[in-house]
Parts: sequence; structure tokens; C-alpha cells
Amino acid sequence: ASPEISDEVPEALRVLHRVFGYSSFRGEQQEIIEQLIGGGDALVLMPTGGGKSLCYQIPALVREGTGIVISPLIALMQDQVDALTALGVRAGFLNSTQDPYERQAVEQAFLADELDLLYLAPERLRTEGTQRLLDRGKVSLFAIDEAHCVAQWGHDFRPDYLALSMLHERWPKVPRIALTATATEATHAEIAKRLGLEDARHFVASFDRPNIQYRIVPKDNPARQLLELIRTEHDGDAGVVYCLSRASVEKTAAFLVEQGIDAVPYHAGMDSRARAANQARFLREDGVVVVATIAFGMGIDKPDVRFVAHLDLPKSVEGYYQETGRAGRDGEPATAWLAYGLQDVVQQRKLIDGSEGDDAHRRSLGMHLDAMLALCETVDCRRQRLLEYFGQHGGPCGNCDTCLTPAESWDGTVAAQKLLSTVWRLAKERRQKFGAGQIIDILQGKKTAKVIQFDHDGLSVFGVGADLGTAEWRGVVRQLLALRLLAVEGDYGTLVLTDASGEVLGGRRTVQMRKEKKAPAASRKESG
Ligand code: ADP
Ligand code: ZN
Repeated sequence: ASPEISDEVPEALRVLHRVFGYSSFRGEQQEIIEQLIGGGDALVLMPTGGGKSLCYQIPALVREGTGIVISPLIALMQDQVDALTALGVRAGFLNSTQDPYERQAVEQAFLADELDLLYLAPERLRTEGTQRLLDRGKVSLFAIDEAHCVAQWGHDFRPDYLALSMLHERWPKVPRIALTATATEATHAEIAKRLGLEDARHFVASFDRPNIQYRIVPKDNPARQLLELIRTEHDGDAGVVYCLSRASVEKTAAFLVEQGIDAVPYHAGMDSRARAANQARFLREDGVVVVATIAFGMGIDKPDVRFVAHLDLPKSVEGYYQETGRAGRDGEPATAWLAYGLQDVVQQRKLIDGSEGDDAHRRSLGMHLDAMLALCETVDCRRQRLLEYFGQHGGPCGNCDTCLTPAESWDGTVAAQKLLSTVWRLAKERRQKFGAGQIIDILQGKKTAKVIQFDHDGLSVFGVGADLGTAEWRGVVRQLLALRLLAVEGDYGTLVLTDASGEVLGGRRTVQMRKEKKAPAASRKESG
């Protein structure tokens, strides 16, 4: 390192102590900060909560001029600026929520070199007026937050981000730092290419959270299973429980309270005062369990969350990683627990089919869900799969459910053929549509009222699947859905064949399946 650079390091450390009150840098923060202070570019891939903000805030404080932060999260700008102001940092923002007077005041402060940091929405930067403004003031660096927004196939793609490639053409001397928590290899490469950061130093933090134990269990009676988890492993611990709907948040929180757990609900439909009070209790008191929709967690930084439980399937691996990442920030052992069942797959596929937007959007949602399903159904190490998703490779971890109790797999080809041909028979009748329940009854040879009503006991497939229990059959359906060898249609979860089903029916494709683990007998009830 050149002498000027090493002279700057104590300054960065001084700012870390004096302004932010922290004793030491985390991970690669120091190297990243040095790179920018020295005038170089950086591309930073770091998981949520890793401490990305300091990577540009400190260089902006050390370097002369104002650091320009480009962020799509307009709703958070005010909070970010307030938090910085409280620390004595001179910060402002420019976005569409301000009136002309507010904007002008911020612009004046920038021109008078009275700002350390200025947050800008990407669409602002595209305007000639903003570009001229930046020319007239002094810019110390550009920080491009949520940089994965340049990636065409990402779910957060924003056309305004593509225009950010002009930054180094227009201001070639100003160092740039792009930051993201989305780190698939494809996204990484696309960010570097689109923002012209191929020559920047790349900092790729490990996404591994070794103290978090990942577990994904078959969903049976989720509230009971959760209670069991809390009572046996996390009695008196702080935790977050995620549910998909507001109704299930309310129901689950009430159930836990009834069972003597100190639980509170949190969702966007609640009265804002009650919601804030619940959040404050969770943050300040020990051992509070918050039951929430995914709206909960933005900007929440509680170090001693001992477990994160999902009662419904997250929509993507990114979401799962981000939500489970709120556990064990203090580095002490923590649990990430997810209950997952057939109904989750049916429900999520239905949500995607009914979602707004074009086909490309739906395809992208479908791909995200498929990756999440693959993580649920894997017989390999969960962590290894999770990290591979983020482009990071390693061996089995020894601290996830499949490492601790290896999952068995079995050749489910014949079972799949039996099930798919039953679906095919019923589709031929075309009189009525049937869901998983009826098909499993037929396979098992159960003469239920509905089976008799439709003469299904006369089908050649009636009773051919008596060798498997109901949970096993539901597992078969779930895995076939996850593999897209089966699909659901309509509001009642009617099972239908897909283009790929024929490969299995025709014996051209075998299907390896994860063996269902038995749920505790006491709580056995079909609902997953
Ligand atoms: P990210 O943007 O990567 O999600 P943040 O920048 O919001 O993460 O940082 C997450 C939390 O970690 C914040 O509360 C931040 O103040 C804290 N933090 C960051 N760097 C350090 C550090 N070196 N020492 C202690 N706490 C830190
Ligand atoms: Zn493992």
C-alpha cells in the first residue's frame, strides 16, 4: 500500500469509533473502505445485515465533498437521513416525495459543500438538471445501493439503473462502489458488466451463517409443531415467526399466548400504535416472540434472536435467506425452522398464476419458487444448497437437519406412475375435477362416500397404492409438483398432468424422492 493510503486508515477507524461508536471493522469493511478512500472502485456482495452502509458512509466522511448514494428505496431515505443526522452526519436526500422548496434547500446545502451524504433516487440522476447540479458541487464518491436492480432477470429490475453506466463516463475521476445482497454468479457478472465495474475490486463476503442451524420439516399441524419447537429448544428465547397472511399471524399469536408463550402479532393491517408497541417490546424486552408477516424485519436489528420459524413457504431463496438471517446476529447458536407441506406448493403456484404482470414476470416468480422448493426437497446438506444458490461452494456443514439426520431417498418412479395415471384417468372422465385427497383415497383403495359416488372404486387403479400411507402419498404429490411433473389448476387445487408427465408415465424418466420423516405421533393431523 502506498503511504497516503496507510495514513488514511487510522482516520477511517477514528470515524468508526467517533461517529458510529463501534470498536472494530467487520469482515472486509476495512479493505473496502480503503479501496474507496484511495480513489478505487469496488463491487461488494455482502449478505443483508453484513454492514454494507458503513462501506460508503465512512469513505464519504473521510473524502472531500459529498458522497452520492443511489437507492431505489425511496420510502427508507427519510429514515436513513434521520439516523445519520442523529449521529451528527450531514445528510440529505432528493426524491419525488419532496416539494420544490425542500428540494432547493438540499441542493443549496450540497452546493455549499455542507453535506457528507446525499441520497438520490435513480430516476433523479437521469435528469439533466441533477447532472448539472452534481457538476457544480463536489462529489466524493458514488454508491450504488441494491445494485442487483441492473440485472434484467432479477425480480427487482429497474430500467433507471441501466442508465447508471453513464456515471464513470461523465465523472471518470469519482470512485464508485456498487453494493448488493443478491449474489448469484449470473447477477454478479451482470452488475459488473452493466455498470462498467469489471476493473473494480470485487469483494465477495461469505454468505454462510455457521451459527444458524437450518431445518425444514414436513408440515403437519404447524402451530403445534412450532409450540413443540419453542418448548423443547427455545423456552424463554426471543424469536420471529413468519406467516403468509394477517389472519394466520393473529391466530398463531393468540394460540401461543394461550399456551403461555410471550407472543405478540405484527402485520400491516394492525393499528399503527399497537404495532409499534409490539415491535418495541420485542426489541427492548427479553424473550418476546413476534408473529409477523414478512413486512416485519426491515431495519430490525436485534442481535439475540434465537430462532426464526416459517409456518408458510417463502417465495424465494433470497427471501428465506434474508428472513432466517435475522436469527443469531450475535454469533451464538440459533435455529432457522421451516414447516413445509403440499398445501404450500398448491397455494404458491396459484398465487403466481393469478399474479399481476406479464408472462416474463410470472416465469421469474416461478423460477424463484422452484429454487425454494428444490431447497426444501433436497436430500443434501441444506447449507451447501443455500450457499450454492448464492454462487458459493463448499462441503456438507454438519449443522443442518440433513447433515444431522441424513434424509433417505427412494426410487419413487413406480409410485409416481401410479399417481399420474390416476390423475390421467380422472381427467378423462371430465365430469368433475379432483384434488389430491380424492386421488390418494383411490390409490389407497378407500371406499369413501365420494369414491363410491363417482364409481371410483371401479377404476383399475383403485387400491394399487395401498402400500403407502397418506403422508407418503402427500409427499409424492408434493414432490411431483415441485418437479413440475404435476400441476394444479383452478381454485380447488385440481391436479393435472404437465408436458413432462409423459416422460415418467412412459418409463423414460425415473424420479428419486425424499423419504418423509414421521412427524410426532401425538400431533398427527392432516393439514399439510
Ligand atoms: P446491510 O446494509 O448490509 O444490510 P447495515 O449496513 O444496515 O447492513 O448494517 C447492519 C447492522 O450492523 C447495522 O445496525 C450496523 O450499524 C451494524 N454494523 C455495521 N458495521 C458494524 C461494525 N463494524 N461493528 C458493529 N456493528 C456494525
Ligand atoms: Zn448441512
